[in-house]
Amino acid sequence: MRPAEACAWCGAPFDGGSQRLDRRTGCRRCGAATTDPRPDDAELEAAYGDWYRPAGGGRFNFAGDAILGRTRGLLARRLDEIAPPGPILDVGAGEGTLLDALAARGREVTGLERGAKRGDFVDGSIEAVRRGDGWAAVVFWHSLEHLPRPRAAIREAARLLAPGGVLIVAVPNTGSIQARLFGDRWLHLDIPRHLVHLSTATLTTGLGDDGFRVEAVSHLRAGQVVIGWLAGLVASLPGGLDLYQALRRPEARLAPLTPARRIASLAAGAILLPLAAAGAAAEIPLRRGGTVYVEARRI
Ligand SMILES: [Zn+2]
Repeated sequence: MRPAEACAWCGAPFDGGSQRLDRRTGCRRCGAATTDPRPDDAELEAAYGDWYRPAGGGRFNFAGDAILGRTRGLLARRLDEIAPPGPILDVGAGEGTLLDALAARGREVTGLERGAKRGDFVDGSIEAVRRGDGWAAVVFWHSLEHLPRPRAAIREAARLLAPGGVLIVAVPNTGSIQARLFGDRWLHLDIPRHLVHLSTATLTTGLGDDGFRVEAVSHLRAGQVVIGWLAGLVASLPGGLDLYQALRRPEARLAPLTPARRIASLAAGAILLPLAAAGAAAEIPLRRGGTVYVEARRI
C-alpha cells in the first residue's frame, strides 16, 4: 500500500492542511475524500475475489437480486427517453442487467467490466473505448467510486459523448445524514473497493467544471438508501453483527458466517427495518440521501 499524494477527484496535493480520516484523507479544496493509503493489487484482488460476484449470477438472498433487476429496468427506460439516438456505454456493467434492459429497448450497448465474461463486454478502462462513435450516453452506476482515476474517467466520458449526450452517475453521498451518523462504519464507504468518496455538491461541481450541464439530481433513483441505514443500525448493536454479509448468498460472502450470527444479524435487521426506513424517508426530502443520482448533458 502506498499513501495517496493527491485528491482523487480534483488533484490537489495533500499537505498538512488535509483532513486525516480513518483510511482516507479529506480534500480541503473540493471536499472529496480519497482512500488513503491506496490499496495495492493484492488487497484489491482479495476485495474483488470470487465471493464478490460468484459464478452463476446472483449475490443476494430474498428479493435482493429481483429488486436490482427492477431498478435497472426503470433506469433503462429513463435513459432511453432522455438520451439522443446512438449507442450507450455502461462503465462497470456488473452482471449486465442494465445492458440487457437497454438492449431490449433496441439500444446498441457496450459494457466495461473486469473479466468481461460476455460478448458485449469489454475488459478495460474507459480510455480504451473508441472515440468518434457518437456515444449517446455513458453510465457510471455505482462504479465511478471504484475507479483509480475517477476524474479522468469523467473527462474521457465528455470526449466520447456526442454533443447533447447524457452522463449518468450514481454514487454514495458523503453529505448524507447516514454518512454523518455512522461515520467510519458507514456501509457505503466500502473501503478498499471505493477509492473516492463524494458529496452531491462535490460531484455536481466537478461535472460542471468538465463541460456538463447538470439537469437532474435525485436521492431516490440511486437506490441503496435503506440498506445504508439498516446495515449501520445493525452494526451499531453489540456482538459484531453484519447484515450485509448475512443477506448475501453463502457463495457470495467474504467469509463464512455461523448460522447463529447470520440469524442474529437477520433478526436484528428485521426488527430495525422500520427505523431504517424512517431514516431514509427523512433524509431523502432533505436532499441528504445516502446515495445520489445525477443526470448531466454534454454541452
Ligand atoms: Zn479535491
